[in-house]
Amino acid sequence: MEETIFDKIIKGDIPADVVYEDDNVLAFKDINPQAPVHVLVIPKKKVTSFNDLKNLSPEETGLFLNGVSTVAVSLGLAADGYRIVLNCGSNGQQTVEYLHAHILGERQMKWPPG
Ligand code: 5GP
Repeated sequence: MEETIFDKIIKGDIPADVVYEDDNVLAFKDINPQAPVHVLVIPKKKVTSFNDLKNLSPEETGLFLNGVSTVAVSLGLAADGYRIVLNCGSNGQQTVEYLHAHILGERQMKWPPG
């Protein structure tokens, strides 16, 4: 697997504005925010994309999802709501080949997404 920018962030080789970390996930602010709150959550065990979720055990998958929820709530987004985005592949406009969930909040989202 090729090293991505998120591998480098996990290793501490490049800086990131970390908002949450536990044994299973790391969450940091997106460098190019698309909402007043825009945070990325990645599992510490690397998975390239949502297609490869099978490479995580059901427990690891659950801990990743739980981490996303924990981060969203800890950012104070629970009351007004927020959007979780998991881009996958080229049609999904995934640009970093390391599974990540976007948490977008503090603005009204639109549907359908672009
Ligand atoms: P994707 O398009 O793959 O779903 O999302 C990748 C996200 O990573 C983009 O929103 C992009 O702004 C963000 N990103 C790319 N490089 C960096 C970086 O070096 N640091 C941080 N914090 N975010 C990055």
